[in-house]
Amino acid sequence: MKAISLLNETRQVQLIDVPEPEIERPNQLKLRILEIGICGTDREQVEAGYGEAPAGTDHLVIGHEMLGEVVEVGKEVKSFRKGDYAVLTVRRGCGQCAACQSNRSDMCMTGLFTERGIKGRHGFETEYVVDEQQYAVKVPAELVQVGVLTEPMSVVEKAIEEAVALQAARIPQAKAATWLIGKRTLVAGLGPIGLLAAIALLLRGAEVIGLDIVDEGSKRPDILRRLGGTYLDGRKVDTATLDARLGQVDFILEATGVAELGFQLIDALGVNGIYVMTGIPHGDRPVCITGAEMMQQIVLKNQLIMGSVNASTLHYAQAIEDMQKAKAKWGDLLNEIITTRLPFQQYREALDLRSENDIKTVLLWDKPSEQV
Ligand SMILES: [Zn+2]
Ligand SMILES: [Zn+2]
Repeated sequence: MKAISLLNETRQVQLIDVPEPEIERPNQLKLRILEIGICGTDREQVEAGYGEAPAGTDHLVIGHEMLGEVVEVGKEVKSFRKGDYAVLTVRRGCGQCAACQSNRSDMCMTGLFTERGIKGRHGFETEYVVDEQQYAVKVPAELVQVGVLTEPMSVVEKAIEEAVALQAARIPQAKAATWLIGKRTLVAGLGPIGLLAAIALLLRGAEVIGLDIVDEGSKRPDILRRLGGTYLDGRKVDTATLDARLGQVDFILEATGVAELGFQLIDALGVNGIYVMTGIPHGDRPVCITGAEMMQQIVLKNQLIMGSVNASTLHYAQAIEDMQKAKAKWGDLLNEIITTRLPFQQYREALDLRSENDIKTVLLWDKPSEQV
């Protein structure tokens, strides 16, 4: 079968032939890949040769945002049947730490975890995959059009879950389930993560201000506005005046991966506010900040600044629940986050796509059997 692989020797991405995987243990299931989302991580793998092949092989099959259809299940698999749509999580535990032993490899303490398509384990840009049922989450048929967004949505779910749990733990009378109601939130970066965060925050009753550096009339601000959020063009505002301009901001979710902006935005955070960074910047350019002023603010305003990465199956399930709610509330608006679908053979073109109107690009491997 075909697979899009990063070759060790050349550090180049190519379409190669690999053996089709088979179920080897009774707790495994086999999926036919339908769609794979492309994100910044994939693009870095292509550009910088980032990514680690499984031990003993000369290539890494890339791709970590997937949607598949179950074609076969092992004897012990009771919660999935042939024909079900499902997604697989990305990270596989180290087998040593308490987090991994409780299926929470997203909080792995040893760093010895692997990640499908990224670190030491083949990914999903291929025709079939096999994995254990504990890493699979069912996608209802009504979400088949957007199921490929489950992985980025799971990242958002984890960030928000952590933020509200922490706020509930430290602010008198605050409760995790209701803390976001009426809160002013700022989402920086309106790529897939940012727009999905806007959706999750609006579903929880928050006010959402989305910041990006694209034209008012382009696709991202348009989707944000139709969801009910407000757009702010980062090129037209001075980040140092955001606090005066926006008033009390209770929650910031950063999804730009731009270090300088990430630090500048701390200034916009309000009293008792919480700031979650999810972007992963690269490079070694120093960031210039007025340290004393920033530290003063963080201390005097009881602020919490944290990072969040990856997600557990619980967050994938929450992602699916929220996508169902989003569909009920906004109809097919969620589908518009997927701006391009290309056949997998056009992977090079897909990896190159990035303009202000490209949000999520998806590679098509096969059609759901319902639509065949
Ligand atoms: Zn990704
Ligand atoms: Zn671990």
